[in-house]
Amino acid sequence: MNAVVELRGVSKSYPGGVHALRDVSLTIEPGELVGIVGPSGSGKSTMLNMIGTLDRPSEGTVFVDGYDVHTLTDKELSALRATVLGFVFQQFHLAGGVSAVDNVADGLLYTGAGLKERRRRAVEALERVGLQHRLDHRPHQMSGGERQRVAIARAVVGNPTLLLADEPTGNLDTTSGAGVLNLLRTLHTSGTTVVIITHDRDIATSLPRQVSMRDGQVSHA
Ligand code: ADP
Repeated sequence: MNAVVELRGVSKSYPGGVHALRDVSLTIEPGELVGIVGPSGSGKSTMLNMIGTLDRPSEGTVFVDGYDVHTLTDKELSALRATVLGFVFQQFHLAGGVSAVDNVADGLLYTGAGLKERRRRAVEALERVGLQHRLDHRPHQMSGGERQRVAIARAVVGNPTLLLADEPTGNLDTTSGAGVLNLLRTLHTSGTTVVIITHDRDIATSLPRQVSMRDGQVSHA
């Protein structure tokens, strides 16, 4: 079976001599739950952008689900993002004024399924994250923890191979944050490969594998 992610000698530089990533190699196998941990500025987001095919390396090769990302056309890259990857962000990024069901149903737009089918699957995903009682609520009618659950439902409604979460508990109080982490663990147990970016060492050490970043390099994997 292919590794879900393989970075080979990946570097990312910005003008002015900023080296956000320096010669990083990393393999993530199917079914792993991995924390990428490190202080602010250590290169975590840059790493996530590489894994999520949102940015291209200055040097090195990125494989996602066995595909060399560099060789894919824009259309193939969009398809890879839509079918293989699910994204969760610190700021939730939900559409305002739109119900939980329709926020999640939007995660299936690429499938070409009709609205009724997308809503049916969105309801299932919301049940999976424990929000069956919030289907018609709009983001402003929900707590931070509930919003993040909606965002997670949207990320997993298409059954992605890999869920990428960038500081998913960063905007939440301790209790809601613990609930969201437990949810990510449950998704992992049911077969999704999960990568969580965090600057919180306690969260990282609670995960089965930690990749520590410092000055754009992996200091411990
Ligand atoms: P982290 O997510 O760990 O806080 P980042 O990956 O965001 O770290 O940043 C790593 C380094 O790259 C930092 O020094 C940051 O200032 C720099 N950097 C990130 N993005 C850019 C950019 N678009 N232009 C210039 N420098 C950047």
